[in-house]
Amino acid sequence: MALFSKKDKYIRINPNKSLKQTEPREVPEVPDELFAKCPACKHMIYQKDLGPAKICPACSYNFRISAQERLCLTVDEGSFEELFTGIETKNPLKFPGYVDKLVATREKTGLDEAVMTGLAKVKGQEIALAIMDSHFIMASMGTVVGEKLTRLFELATEKALPVVIFTASGGARMQEGIMSLMQMAKVSAAVKRHSNADLFYLTILTDPTTGGVTASFAMEGDIILAEPQALVGFAGRRVIETTVREDLPEDFQKAEFLLEHGFVDVIVKRTDLRDTIAELVAFHGGVK
Ligand SMILES: [Zn+2]
Repeated sequence: MALFSKKDKYIRINPNKSLKQTEPREVPEVPDELFAKCPACKHMIYQKDLGPAKICPACSYNFRISAQERLCLTVDEGSFEELFTGIETKNPLKFPGYVDKLVATREKTGLDEAVMTGLAKVKGQEIALAIMDSHFIMASMGTVVGEKLTRLFELATEKALPVVIFTASGGARMQEGIMSLMQMAKVSAAVKRHSNADLFYLTILTDPTTGGVTASFAMEGDIILAEPQALVGFAGRRVIETTVREDLPEDFQKAEFLLEHGFVDVIVKRTDLRDTIAELVAFHGGVK
């Protein structure tokens, strides 16, 4: 009988086929840029559904956008005149690899530093404008960022223009050590001179605005706006929790929490920002 004449000790499954699978399995390729994961609600969002303002349709989180994208959403077409480019850091600490990192980041982002500065018009009103971009070394504030902002305030004071700044930052630029921290005082002094001339200063806190930027010019605006769910704080959550030995609320350091505690005047949807800026500038006298 065939059953008893079987020589193999064990039943073999498809003995002619090698167990090793040499051919790679075909996996359908999904391009990275087709979907984006919302950092707030964790939904996978079809990029096209985010729209030009890049707002999550599920939870209204405002995605981080580049300075160029912000410019397109905010100013009158063709009105932006970029100023104070080409200033280079002296790499005061001779930090290894820093200059190479800057060169690579400039190439990647198309920006010359973490802040873009210039003059622009919003609904016909002239403003001095600065936009920080978190894609440039986390928009950290080094000597060049400080210098560009200071020059912008000085020019605005001279020309009697309001200043509008979109803030975003991971804090001081580690590679420039104490020179970075000194920018907090330097920019603040320029803000004060602008304020003494009775000129309007508006800040818009975007995700994330932290560290030395929060501790200086981001919070010195005459009016402080914030985008929904933007992370705004000084020290990181874990550092504070370890220091005070307390659990912090879930929404701690979110724009909504700051609004509730009086640090922010209004939370404005990104799609309404252009109108709001124009209204506030006009309300405060526009160009004097
Ligand atoms: Zn979301």
